[in-house]
Amino acid sequence: MARDLTPKCKRCRREGKKLFLKGARCNSIKCAMVKRKYAPGIHGANQKKRLTDYGIQLREKQQLKRTYRILERQFKKYFNKAKGQEGEMGLNLLRLLETRFDNILVRANIFLSRDQSRQSINHKHWTINQRGVNIPSYQVKVGDIIQLKENSSLRKSIDERINHEKTKKDIPGWLSVDLKKMNIKIVNLPITEDLPANVNTKLIVEFYSR
Ligand code: SF4
Repeated sequence: MARDLTPKCKRCRREGKKLFLKGARCNSIKCAMVKRKYAPGIHGANQKKRLTDYGIQLREKQQLKRTYRILERQFKKYFNKAKGQEGEMGLNLLRLLETRFDNILVRANIFLSRDQSRQSINHKHWTINQRGVNIPSYQVKVGDIIQLKENSSLRKSIDERINHEKTKKDIPGWLSVDLKKMNIKIVNLPITEDLPANVNTKLIVEFYSR
């Protein structure tokens, strides 16, 4: 299976912003974007390159793709799917990404990174509508109920992390989360206000329309 082996912090530094790929470390002073907030590479610190239009579009696409931890082929599939749906394409694309199983566990504050979330799914710790699902890209639907398996060894560590959290993370309104029972219900699809505001989907549309 293809994998992106670029070190995670390098990806953030390349994009010039935090993509939150490493869980708790991302909110600490150990974050590479705190210590070395410049592009990776020997000339990174002195780089004053002006991006072309293509470069700007490429970076926007890469940023979104890397945030959700998706490879190019799969990202293009999401793009084509969003294109085929009714309504605004950028909104459709973000909705498809937001309703991935691995992303929902992050939005519900069960995990801090998509990698942790993905690992727990691959290791069969979760059910959706009482059926085991071990596919991180599984597209959830309105009304679906995600539940941590009764005998899961993760329960204790998730509880501990959440209880030690200093500031409680906001959970989006389209999810109903019961952290005691470890279940998440998809109440409705995310609306514009629920989607990441810092993504310029127009640039991504332009990138693929070239
Ligand atoms: Fe990015 Fe997290 Fe690394 Fe910071 S610690 S550079 S946010 S992956």
